[in-house]
Amino acid sequence: MAEKISGIHNYCDRWCERCAFTSRCEVYRTLEEKDALDLDKDNEKFWETLSQNFSEMMTMAR
Ligand code: SF4
Repeated sequence: MAEKISGIHNYCDRWCERCAFTSRCEVYRTLEEKDALDLDKDNEKFWETLSQNFSEMMTMAR
């Protein structure tokens, strides 16, 4: 597996389908891991994941 490029997602247009760096992008890897339930707003797991993401974002921002 290719080495990750830290922060590469900060310099793209988020057009992942056309991106040559998907195997080296942490954001893309995270999106790939999500299953359909993670994206269903009527499922409690969606809100748990969203809450966890905001917590991680606040930690990084600090
Ligand atoms: S895979 Fe998607 S998010 Fe990652 S660098 Fe490429 S376009 Fe950006």
